[in-house]
Amino acid sequence: CSSDLLTMPIMANDRTADPSANSDPLDRPDKSEHDYDLFVIGAGSGGLATAKRAASYGARVAIAEGDRVGGTCVIRGCIPKKLMVYAAEHGHWIADAAGYGWDVARPGAFDWSGFVQRRDDSVRSLEELHERLLREAGVELLRGHARLMAADRVELESRTISARHILVATGSTPILPEIDGVENAVTSDGFFELGRQPERMVIIGGGYIAVEFATILAGLGTRVSLVMRRDLPLRGFDMDVRRELHAALESLGVEVHAGTTVRAIERAGEQVAVEVDGPSGAGRIESDGAMVYAIGRRPCSSGIGLEELGVAVNAAGEIIVDELGATTVPGVLAVGDVIGKAPLTPVAIQAGRAMADRIFGGRDTQMSYDDIPTAVFSEPPIATVGLTEEQAIERHGADGIDVYKARFNPMIHTLTDRKVPVLVKLIVEKAGDRVIGCHMIGHDAPEIIQGFAVAMKAGATKADFDATVGIHPSTAEEFLTLR
Ligand code: NDP
Repeated sequence: CSSDLLTMPIMANDRTADPSANSDPLDRPDKSEHDYDLFVIGAGSGGLATAKRAASYGARVAIAEGDRVGGTCVIRGCIPKKLMVYAAEHGHWIADAAGYGWDVARPGAFDWSGFVQRRDDSVRSLEELHERLLREAGVELLRGHARLMAADRVELESRTISARHILVATGSTPILPEIDGVENAVTSDGFFELGRQPERMVIIGGGYIAVEFATILAGLGTRVSLVMRRDLPLRGFDMDVRRELHAALESLGVEVHAGTTVRAIERAGEQVAVEVDGPSGAGRIESDGAMVYAIGRRPCSSGIGLEELGVAVNAAGEIIVDELGATTVPGVLAVGDVIGKAPLTPVAIQAGRAMADRIFGGRDTQMSYDDIPTAVFSEPPIATVGLTEEQAIERHGADGIDVYKARFNPMIHTLTDRKVPVLVKLIVEKAGDRVIGCHMIGHDAPEIIQGFAVAMKAGATKADFDATVGIHPSTAEEFLTLR
């Protein structure tokens, strides 16, 4: 979402374009009596990007939001999380600085409330910026919860509004399990509202959020227990990367309870105890009251009139769409986490822009879901694009691929007391020499893999990697010298 904000040119409204002048599968008959050409439900990453892009072609666009503008990513996700990652990293850097000759005092106590206030101020100004960008794009922001009444009609705060296209971009929300005492836990939403830094924190889950929160808090000095039901975190990521992260969590001081499930949660005053079943039987994990569940999210698809209108939704609550984002009801579209397809901010933005380009710009665009790069902002961070070794073997057979990898101490830690190894890994399909997987855990991984993702999208081969001159001395050049 930051890229949406900072790099998207604010396009002049081309009000001369005729939104009805194309014959696309997504096109709808234009009835001049429609209040809008596009009505977007949900001002999160996907909704905002689609609305602004549609308006740039001259479409009459409104966007409804019942909460804060910006959605999960801006308000209670990527942005405040990344600021917390930076906060934790500064603690490590202060400690590292001594190795580079700086006479630094040991880091003092972390000022949680001062930081949280600055973090929240920054999020508020981003929210205001999004509101301003909507105004400048000519998109009308309507406050309230919209509900679908027909394929071209919504109800918003007792008002009926018609539109040629309706886009559902309502996002997703964290889930909580049905276990005794779950009311003592918060989700990622509550995590961003913690008024004080917990001394101890129990985090349940082994996915993106759990490992990011665990390393942030450990970096800030909280004693963290991470309870995950698998042996390794981040199911779906490359096994080498998962093993490396597991070791990194432990060296950061995170108490990892692998292969462990939660039976119940008990509160006694300020204390919370989590009853668990682990490899060595039943046990209890104590915290000073703070406990976060990060076990996935569910699409926000109920209570907005989808069922009544006959829009098909699967058992997971994901709206079923075709490759262009059309639902089973003509005129009703969906984008972002609510369709459950690669639920990541940049995916929602790109899919929404492609949809708007197609409908209102008359361009033959379509979102490509192949080779989507993704990063986990743990310490050290992880970034990946393409197939894992396990997926590549499944697809091409063990004899059909070559695996190249290197594990080393990055130069930045030459003079520090920290040893945080880097792992770089390439998977190559033997038949065509194409690089089909690129993985990294280590300092700057998200910044490095973003560039390699372009190369992979363009079909780079291992020979292309070998023929590229490295930037020396850097970590990224290690990808070019793998043998
Ligand atoms: P994830 O889907 O990443 O991970 C869910 C984790 O919870 C898995 O480890 C899963 O285990 C575990 N789990 C599921 N159900 C239970 C249960 N009942 N009891 C115990 N453990 C359980 O979800 P997150 O909540 O971490 O994140 C949600 C989504 O948000 C991500 O999938 C991602 O799309 C997005 N996100 C992206 C970020 C980024 O781009 N950096 C950052 C944060 C979030 P198992 O593997 O066994 O299923």
